[in-house]
Amino acid sequence: MKIQLLVTFVCILLASGNGHAQRDFSTSDVTKIVMLGTGTPNPSPFQSGCSVAIVVNDTPYIVDFGPGLVRQAAALSPRYGGEIEGLYIRKIKRAFLTHLHSDHTTGYPDLILTPWVVGRDEPLEVYGPEGINKMTENILEAYEHDIRYRLYGSEPANNQGWRVNSHEITKEGVVYRDENVKVEAFPVPHGSWPNAWGYRFTTPDRVIVISGDTTPSEKVFDYARGADVLIHEVYYKKAYDEKSAFWRNYHAKNHTSTYELADIAQEAKPGLVVLYHMLLWGGTEEDLLSEIAEGYKGKVVAAKDLDIY
Ligand SMILES: [Zn+2]
Ligand SMILES: [Zn+2]
Repeated sequence: MKIQLLVTFVCILLASGNGHAQRDFSTSDVTKIVMLGTGTPNPSPFQSGCSVAIVVNDTPYIVDFGPGLVRQAAALSPRYGGEIEGLYIRKIKRAFLTHLHSDHTTGYPDLILTPWVVGRDEPLEVYGPEGINKMTENILEAYEHDIRYRLYGSEPANNQGWRVNSHEITKEGVVYRDENVKVEAFPVPHGSWPNAWGYRFTTPDRVIVISGDTTPSEKVFDYARGADVLIHEVYYKKAYDEKSAFWRNYHAKNHTSTYELADIAQEAKPGLVVLYHMLLWGGTEEDLLSEIAEGYKGKVVAAKDLDIY
């Protein structure tokens, strides 16, 4: 009996593949937020690249394509023992990109090709900043041999699922709408990137705001005011203070500190703040949370990969 309990415990620990028990905090059967990857450019073996799935009525909407996202989604799909019907990989048909940084886009070929290989039979619809059209064309060109081989070799593949309709977002406001979601894009300041976007998803029962990579932004205040969930990037201020002047300058112009995020949350008062894309630099998630708690007393969670909210 004891051995059986131990085996069960180890299985739960290993279930996420990241050495921690998978955590389901979700309160809705209609809308689930799945943290596919909470990572940064630093290749932590415990975090996949930056990517979030918002699943509404079993339909997935992906935000950002960090490396690993397709396998992370598969981990929670019924095909591999998970419970989220909307994460069957062939169901991935809609995706949104915050900006073109590689830690948010190196999963893009995987997002285009793998769902097709397992049966997606219509084009992927992608919404993102200026430059997404060219990136899409270049990826399809890079994989032209694979696509041709699958289409015209001995393995049958449909001639739709590899295609991508990419849409460049040029102005703030509603960029997508269907029976499950309204998606608004808002510009965020991220260093010298000419176009970086945050997104607000309004579903039948929840409002979810995703910051993308950004310094503190008035727009995030505006869009996150009263939201149910604010998913926001952050860095650990104490470790930042010990960095060289060069790196302090870079991060101050590109990212948001714990204290700055506390001010945003204090102003916007979302129901829940979910931290992702956390730059810890040797600190811990507890360190982040305690810095934020100095300025904000609401609910804040440091996300782990495959968390469900
Ligand atoms: Zn990033
Ligand atoms: Zn970035």
